[in-house]
Amino acid sequence: MRKIPQRTCIVCGEKIDKKNLIRVVKNKEGEVFYDPTGKANGRGAYLCGSDECTEAILKKNALNRAFKMEIDEAVKLKIMDDVKNAKK
Ligand SMILES: [Zn+2]
Repeated sequence: MRKIPQRTCIVCGEKIDKKNLIRVVKNKEGEVFYDPTGKANGRGAYLCGSDECTEAILKKNALNRAFKMEIDEAVKLKIMDDVKNAKK
């Protein structure tokens, strides 16, 4: 039997509560976006939802490291905006 997969925040390394889970996806086309459904196809990276970790997308290039690619600043800002709006 397989264990239930646990998600780890790519910034702080904390295990993530399902209700706070933030999934960011990189699809086959190399587009990176916030995935509120959790079901988009592609490689996922997970964030715990804290403000600090959300801001690390821009300040620490957390997604660049997670996806091993350069990500446009505009894309990072959009994801941060989407995440912040989703939390309201
Ligand atoms: Zn975190």
